[in-house]
Amino acid sequence: MRVLFVASECYPYVKTGGLADVVAALPPALRRLGLDVRTLLPGFPGVLDRLEQFRRVRLLRDLPGLASGQTARLLSACGTDGVPLYILDAPSLFAREGNPYLGPDGRDWPDNALRYAALARAAALLARDGDGLITGRTSAATAADGRGWVPQILHGHDWQAGLLPVYAASLMPEVRPASVFTIHNLAFQGLFPPEMLGPLGLDPALMVPDGFEFYGKVGFMKAGLRFADRLTTVSPTYAAEIRGPELGFGLDGLLRQRADRLTGILNGVDLEQWNPATDSLITARYDAGTLDDKASNKLALQQRFGLRPDAAAPLFAVVSRLTEQKGIDLIVQCLPSILTGGGQLVVLGTGDPTLEAALAGAAGQSPDCCGLVRAYDEELSHLIQAGADLLLVPSRFEPCGLTQMYALRYGTLPLVSQVGGLADTVTDVTEASLADNSATGFVFSPVGAQPLQFAIDQALALWRRPALWRQVQRNGMGCDLGWAGSAARYAALYQELTGRPPRRRPSRPEGS
Ligand code: ADP
Repeated sequence: MRVLFVASECYPYVKTGGLADVVAALPPALRRLGLDVRTLLPGFPGVLDRLEQFRRVRLLRDLPGLASGQTARLLSACGTDGVPLYILDAPSLFAREGNPYLGPDGRDWPDNALRYAALARAAALLARDGDGLITGRTSAATAADGRGWVPQILHGHDWQAGLLPVYAASLMPEVRPASVFTIHNLAFQGLFPPEMLGPLGLDPALMVPDGFEFYGKVGFMKAGLRFADRLTTVSPTYAAEIRGPELGFGLDGLLRQRADRLTGILNGVDLEQWNPATDSLITARYDAGTLDDKASNKLALQQRFGLRPDAAAPLFAVVSRLTEQKGIDLIVQCLPSILTGGGQLVVLGTGDPTLEAALAGAAGQSPDCCGLVRAYDEELSHLIQAGADLLLVPSRFEPCGLTQMYALRYGTLPLVSQVGGLADTVTDVTEASLADNSATGFVFSPVGAQPLQFAIDQALALWRRPALWRQVQRNGMGCDLGWAGSAARYAALYQELTGRPPRRRPSRPEGS
């Protein structure tokens, strides 16, 4: 089974959030099941600088954003874990330092529509023309016609890949690969003005509510949701939530309409990268049998943030984008009670300037028990997971969330709101869940400062019962958080799509 992932992020080359971790870990998990999964990424400096050997596969013309006569190179390389990568090397679109989506002024790059449409169109061209490389594994048919590797499944991730099924349908009106589209966060939709239709090379007939039009704009996310053969999102609870008005961001009607094509498949964790027994980024390594050694990490973390070294103080932590989605404002509201309860707080993240300022103010006022590092720092995020006692994730919505799963791995109790993937991965401490050893953390509902406060009080109460605390740590560390089960579900989905006879379709994407 040949599958092409198309995404804007992949750890360790380019990462702003959980998407990068998923795109890094799911292809190797699928390859372990025998699938030939490859990933197409934009040629950001972080991608090109980290890879050593490239092969030029094809020259691509007529991509959105390229001047007439200008070409882009499609390169191939071997990524981490042996996953073959294709890279769209188009310097005028991607050779920019910093964030994949934002310029140095913190605003969206003005040509984002063209940049990510070019990525989607390059994927569709690769699907039509193949990579032209004939190897021992090339299928007889595509070796004979010189196309080399061609995917049977096009799997796009988030709005950046939303136009993929549209370009695939227009470039391959007769027979084309099946398409899967995964929603990692419905809040970011890739909306662009209607004047972009021409430069994007899109059929104006599809600029209708039953196409990709979204309140007068071209909706990349909507295109993916409307035209992909199958939709997935990253947890079962989020799959249900986005079919309702509260978390559907205006697309809930379409998602209800396509509910029979939508599946929630929980993300997993890269068990090698996030393993306290082998992690070289932390001060002391430990496992469920040597949890006392976690204390050295706590001390190192307190020192790193300039806090009072105190093994007895419950150390709360946040590793997150500092936004309202993540409920950081609720943490600011509850901070005084954490500190008066004898607790400490460390925060690693950047985001909303108002929230950053509120946290910086608190850290300035109580420097021995509250610290903020305003940065994106992968290494420090590992030390925090290892050194903290509790990880706070009070999100207003959370498609899956990865940090709470990393916390479980590291014997750090997650304290989370009961939404999306947080609800699917953390089991609240109750008498019953303590009795049957299923308790792994603290879960509160509804999302608000008072319920969060109540959960913090419960956590402080459990902290005073060290034997029970240790038991809950071990329960979490024993959870099966790897990718194997979820990868098998993706594989089954692909199988379902390709098990059918070759699909012949009219030139318009389905239903239009
Ligand atoms: P989202 O993708 O919505 O930001 P997730 O929990 O799914 O949230 O994934 C966030 C990922 O980004 C995790 O790997 C987390 O460790 C990482 N992360 C978030 N903020 C920071 C930061 N400031 N420094 C280092 N890693 C961070």
